[in-house]
Amino acid sequence: MTPITHYLCIGCPLGCRLEVEDDEAGAIVEVRGHSCRKGKTFAEREHHDPRRMVTTTVAVTGGLWRRLPVHTTAEVPKDLVHDVVRLLRSVELTAPIERGQVIASDVLGTGADVVASRELPLA
Ligand code: SF4
Repeated sequence: MTPITHYLCIGCPLGCRLEVEDDEAGAIVEVRGHSCRKGKTFAEREHHDPRRMVTTTVAVTGGLWRRLPVHTTAEVPKDLVHDVVRLLRSVELTAPIERGQVIASDVLGTGADVVASRELPLA
């Protein structure tokens, strides 16, 4: 019996239920359940190299608000998402901050930067 793994596609609100069938060596034999090419690509990636964008907030002093929304410029390996968030918990920025300003470059060696999602002026 060949192993089958199930995923929920997050490519759009339709939420197709995907099945990935492997051969005995762990190579993908077939992807089923997708309604478009994007879903097939998602299933293949999710099966061997799951990745996610990271969005969170970091602390700011001297600004109009005390938290700044930030996001990664690219998806990072899913098993590093919590580590990225934990790292950003220790960051404290000083206002003013420009939208797109780099908060952390090549975060945890992922190749993705963490940037400001909006500007944050002085208080
Ligand atoms: S497979 Fe295509 S249609 Fe289905 S949820 Fe994914 S992106 Fe949407």
